[in-house]
Amino acid sequence: MLQPVDKILEKKDLQLDEIKTLLQLKPPSNAILFKKALDVKSKAVGRKVYLRGLIEYSNHCVKNCYYCGIRCNNKLPQRYHLTDIEVIEAAKYAYKNRFASIVIQSGEDSSKRFISTIERLLAEINKLTNGELHITLSLGEQSIDTYRRWYDAGAHRYLLRIETSNPDLYKKLHPRDKLHDYNHRLDTLKTLREVGYQVGTGVMIGLPFQTFDDLAEDLLFFRKIDIDMVGMGPYIEHENTPLFEYRAQLLPLKERLEISLNMVAVLRIMMKNINIAATTAMQTIDPQGRERALLAGANVMMPNLTPAKYRDSYLLYKDKPGVADDAVGSKNAMEQSILLAGETIGYGEWGDSKHYELRIKN
Ligand code: SAM
Ligand code: SF4
Repeated sequence: MLQPVDKILEKKDLQLDEIKTLLQLKPPSNAILFKKALDVKSKAVGRKVYLRGLIEYSNHCVKNCYYCGIRCNNKLPQRYHLTDIEVIEAAKYAYKNRFASIVIQSGEDSSKRFISTIERLLAEINKLTNGELHITLSLGEQSIDTYRRWYDAGAHRYLLRIETSNPDLYKKLHPRDKLHDYNHRLDTLKTLREVGYQVGTGVMIGLPFQTFDDLAEDLLFFRKIDIDMVGMGPYIEHENTPLFEYRAQLLPLKERLEISLNMVAVLRIMMKNINIAATTAMQTIDPQGRERALLAGANVMMPNLTPAKYRDSYLLYKDKPGVADDAVGSKNAMEQSILLAGETIGYGEWGDSKHYELRIKN
């Protein structure tokens, strides 16, 4: 027999079936879940949002993930790299506006040139900002040597989504070759931690073939690997990708968003002091999606600092918001949305995950 939701929410350690029950709550019944998650967040990490200025460095990618609009077999996007000056300007903008932290994200590239360019940029940004700007990388799977070089050059955090913790589903979302291997991705998360990074992962929600069991297992996976940060959001189909063929199987976008918010809330309850991002894909579905994520337990936002002229070339999925915005537009929109949600902004604060701070102390 199904347990009542209020009884589940009183439990200390949620189990698979309980998580599944919570994830399937629909509005208005998920309001009680959000209320509990906001309460947990307030007590564990406070109602403060940390900003990470997002720099989409390049859409060149050697991989062919079946869901992603910048996969290498999609010949439509105009490929770009930001110039060194553009990256430095974006970092300076973040520093001046007291974001305290940036994320450099890109398609995957392991060429010597790419590796050394990132290394050089990291050193330069650190020098220019007296080491005060925290740098997160999201540059896919690389060798341990590369991760060490970037860490030594001044990167502190690394985001690498597992995409789904179910290896069989992972195979349906990726070509079956060495470049797209589930076990390698999992090992890479361990490598990143070994090198010393504060590590983040995440999944897409509402993928074709994905079940509520998969999603509940994803949350248990985050707990099992004791992750420091999570960024997860709805899968949004892109017409020039192989997965688009399965669009008839997808839940409506609004339902994918509701489930994503439920995922954020349940995760906050399960892992009280980690950092959880309110992701752009949530805002794509609902202009209020990110504020709703904050009220469901998220505490990180990533204003886009990519120069406006490149934005429509970094389209991972359709209708990605902010394509026409510049950095100022993104910042203003975000500040407004954070204040509207009744939260404050952690200007000038690195906002390391409390979970990470405790982990390295012990
Ligand atoms: N290339 C790096 C990687 O894959 O780890 C970093 C950049 S990649 C564009 C960042 C994330 O975008 C992926 O981890 C994936 O979860 C997300 N993404 C890609 N296509 C998406 C889609 N169609 N809908 C939602 N998220 C998507
Ligand atoms: Fe490349 Fe990342 Fe997109 Fe996969 S998700 S195709 S690795 S940019």
